[in-house]
Amino acid sequence: MFATATDAKKQSKGGNRIVVLEQDLDAEVMTYVEANVLATMYHELAHAFIDLMPLPVFGREEDAADTFVVVITDAFFSDSAAEQLTWASAYQYARDAEEAEKKGVEPAVWDAHSLDLQRYYNLICLYYGGDVEARKGFAKEFGLPDDRAETCEEERDLAESSWGAVLDGIERMQNGPDWIVLDEDIDTLGNSYVIAAHTVIREEIAHLNKRFAPDFRVKVVIENCNQENAFYSPSEEKITMCNEIVRSFIHD
Ligand SMILES: [Zn+2]
Repeated sequence: MFATATDAKKQSKGGNRIVVLEQDLDAEVMTYVEANVLATMYHELAHAFIDLMPLPVFGREEDAADTFVVVITDAFFSDSAAEQLTWASAYQYARDAEEAEKKGVEPAVWDAHSLDLQRYYNLICLYYGGDVEARKGFAKEFGLPDDRAETCEEERDLAESSWGAVLDGIERMQNGPDWIVLDEDIDTLGNSYVIAAHTVIREEIAHLNKRFAPDFRVKVVIENCNQENAFYSPSEEKITMCNEIVRSFIHD
């Protein structure tokens, strides 16, 4: 149904690099890490928007945050880069599902997040729904069933009228102070991809500061957390990007 780990390398579109990084790193691996770092940061940013604007959410906040990833990705990147990014973050869910199955772990149906494979299909569907003519091949390649494909354009329209409108409303019109402030920890688990991911985060924050100007501030902290995670803390108005989650995007 979806790509296997071996196919990942073949299908990774290394030519669509988003940020230029150190040349000793494998371009395909870095492209994948970069895409997942960005998707993770966008997801957490959605939680910050929901908390700080604040935004009404009629449904599961985790699903709303995943939807935001697709909307902002398509707004920021060319089709080829957006496709690579969507594929990489969807693939990570497919892979997580595969690993859990191998280990005999039951799907966490009680969790606040949708199941990994649901997150996979939601991303593929929402991206496809952004241009159903041009992205037909993408939907087919990544196994989107026809039954779901039918509603993807509508789902995407709804995503645009909700999240797209939020982004339109906070576009930066004039110079002003940064609304995202980075606090970087120097310990990076000694992994060069993790170090490179810091550059991705730093550059993306600069981009977000330049492009948007909401009337609140968010802190982004990169640190070792002893867990593969990224999270938003409402009481501190802070996004934590754990070095461990970045490392989990590096597959052997
Ligand atoms: Zn979340």
